[in-house]
Amino acid sequence: MNSSEYDIIVAGGGLAGAAAAISAARENAKVLLIEKHGFLGGMATAGLVNPFMPYVIWKASWTYDWSQVVNQGLFGEILKELKSMGGLHSNNETFNEEFLKLILDRMMKKYNVKVLLHSFVSDVSRKDNKIESITITNKSGNRVFKASYFIDATGDADVSALAGCDFKLGRDGDNFCQPMTLCFRLANVNRDLYDREKSVPMINKIYKSFKEKGLIKNPKENVLLFEHVVDNIVHFNSTRVVGKSAVDAQQLTEAEMEAREQVYELYRFMKENIPGFENCQLLMSAPQIGVRESRRIVGEYIITQEDLLNAVKFEDSIARGTYPLDIHNPAGTGTYIQDIPYGDYYTIPYRALVPKGIDNLIVAGRPISSTHEAHSAYRIMPICTSIGEGAGAAAAIVSKEGGAFKDLSYKKIHAVMDKYNALY
Ligand SMILES: Cc1cc2nc3c(=O)[nH]c(=O)nc-3n(C[C@H](O)[C@H](O)[C@H](O)COP(=O)(O)OP(=O)(O)OC[C@H]3O[C@@H](n4cnc5c(N)ncnc54)[C@H](O)[C@@H]3O)c2cc1C
Repeated sequence: MNSSEYDIIVAGGGLAGAAAAISAARENAKVLLIEKHGFLGGMATAGLVNPFMPYVIWKASWTYDWSQVVNQGLFGEILKELKSMGGLHSNNETFNEEFLKLILDRMMKKYNVKVLLHSFVSDVSRKDNKIESITITNKSGNRVFKASYFIDATGDADVSALAGCDFKLGRDGDNFCQPMTLCFRLANVNRDLYDREKSVPMINKIYKSFKEKGLIKNPKENVLLFEHVVDNIVHFNSTRVVGKSAVDAQQLTEAEMEAREQVYELYRFMKENIPGFENCQLLMSAPQIGVRESRRIVGEYIITQEDLLNAVKFEDSIARGTYPLDIHNPAGTGTYIQDIPYGDYYTIPYRALVPKGIDNLIVAGRPISSTHEAHSAYRIMPICTSIGEGAGAAAAIVSKEGGAFKDLSYKKIHAVMDKYNALY
């Protein structure tokens, strides 16, 4: 296919980018999806982030009403596929990311999305208010691709930044972002001795005493661990690298190395102190460190924590969410959590996906326009998937009708989303 034949180019094949690509392609847009890794899924696969945080209405603190799902549409389709392949745990949250990679591949084929893996978006050519082309770098060299519209789903707003759009980094004041975390797994855990519910308080009591004695360097206040689809494997989301920027290559490198030391420290801690882990082995860490937060675009609307805590229903909503504010201390120990009203949900306005001052670019996933605090809530995988689905629907419409993203009527987006059971 000649490069200029694409209606839409999606940069970044995480859950948001994958959903955006499918959402646009099933409305007959010609879509190219570019991803730097050799598989799709982003944090869900490359970051080994697991489980899906709850995508349903909350009844009370960490208590859910599983009959009221707020992230449906493509996220629902992905869940259904995972379940049918035996890749979804009975807790409805833990999933097998190897199946997820395959499911996303198959969905790209089904919806006719052209995918280019192992390809990094390294430059953008912009004229006035429009992106004309992007440059990608891969094994074949550098290549320029043109399209009428672009979706930035790189997680870090790379395309927006390269196009000269305004962005924020981390929290106001010091620009510190939420810490990075290298997820990892310990295998060969004796489940007769280790039971997540019962063991976690004991693990954290010991961990705290180790920290007080200065025996643990990791700044995280507790050990955060989860189930895995395999019984005797335990998943850890518990390293914490603070004060480094994920969009500075040198700092990102340092973060990977520091996190690997923390993985080993936690492995030794668990093996030497926790019943059931005596014979555990370090199975794997993620292919890349997990990035919670980096750039956020400055869009036509900036979502605030008040919008989420007041469960505001925006007229131009394109996604729903129920996950609380969840800020892992960007500077050290501690995690701040604040729930939204139980029984309710907040919404993500379309305007927050539209960067200011540019006509043919929209953002999907975690770098949409918000404050640092609001970002901490909607950044979870189910909501990012829904945001991607909304972005793709919008792109499909403008690619048929022409015009700028900012001028698109939300009613048209809703009409498309209604066809696919995507809630907004
Ligand atoms: C440690 C950690 C723990 C978390 N815990 C949970 C949890 O338990 N449950 C939950 O639901 N959510 C959790 N989250 C949040 C969630 O994983 C992410 O916010 C979400 O997956 C973001 O999706 P995305 O598609 O917007 O971005 P990403 O998943 O980051 O996808 C971006 C994609 O773009 C690609 N890319 C980036 N730059 C380029 C480029 N220049 N060119 C080409 N490709 C590029 C990347 O390789 C990636 O595939 C966690 C996040 C982290 C980091």
